[in-house]
Amino acid sequence: MPELPEVEVTRLSFATHIAGARILGVHLGKPLRWPLHTDPRSLVGRHVVAVRRRGKYLLLDLDIGLLLMHLGMSGSLSFAVHPTPAGKHDHFDLETTHGVLRLHDPRRFGAAVFAQNESDPVAQKLLGKLGMEPLSDDFTVLLFDQELARRKASIKQVLLAGEVVVGVGNIYASEALFLARIRPTVAAARLSRPQVIRLHQEIRKVLARAVEKGGSTLRDFSNAQGNEGYFQLEAMVYGRTGQPCRVCTTPVRMIRQGQRSTFFCPQCQKP
Ligand SMILES: [Zn+2]
Repeated sequence: MPELPEVEVTRLSFATHIAGARILGVHLGKPLRWPLHTDPRSLVGRHVVAVRRRGKYLLLDLDIGLLLMHLGMSGSLSFAVHPTPAGKHDHFDLETTHGVLRLHDPRRFGAAVFAQNESDPVAQKLLGKLGMEPLSDDFTVLLFDQELARRKASIKQVLLAGEVVVGVGNIYASEALFLARIRPTVAAARLSRPQVIRLHQEIRKVLARAVEKGGSTLRDFSNAQGNEGYFQLEAMVYGRTGQPCRVCTTPVRMIRQGQRSTFFCPQCQKP
């Protein structure tokens, strides 16, 4: 599943190219996770002003209205001046004067949804419960600490839930907890202040670094220009069960938490 860094890398790969373009047509393939919520013809003639990101949603600000896009489990976006004809897994084409933005999504858990603005109930349903944006200034140690103090679930599961902070998916949660030297099974509310400070810092660092490196290819991610990321080449614990910890050489351990794999070093991340 594309995680926050991959979505941000995707955004960076086409945002400047599409800005200012006029929409010439919207072509839909098979149904996606959610309907477009407007007649595709009603978007013709509107302009794409800018592309923002909130969590794992891309927000295309139009001169009138907003187009929210999500890559789902297996979706990827491409932006091409001269695209090939749409294939059987291409389910959304936004044809513009600058090129075609295409959602390729074999499993069809992705979506493109039109809303009047961010307060529109259609948008609120998708964006309303999202936690703090980890790479923004709104994500402060103070707020992070306050939110964690109210939660009894394990810190790993609280991070994955996305209600406190968005975008810390399975890979980055394992990595950030390792770097902050925190056992993933500890209750969020039981983290000490120094641990919260370290975790806050490592979440930002690991996500910023993943964006810088072009995202992760742990699944089938490629950005809108078709380049693959290579963050996984330097994972500290993720996917390294039984291999020596890069810090202390203790074998990395894997456990299941809420159906998801968690990787950690039992020595570096003492309970
Ligand atoms: Zn270790």
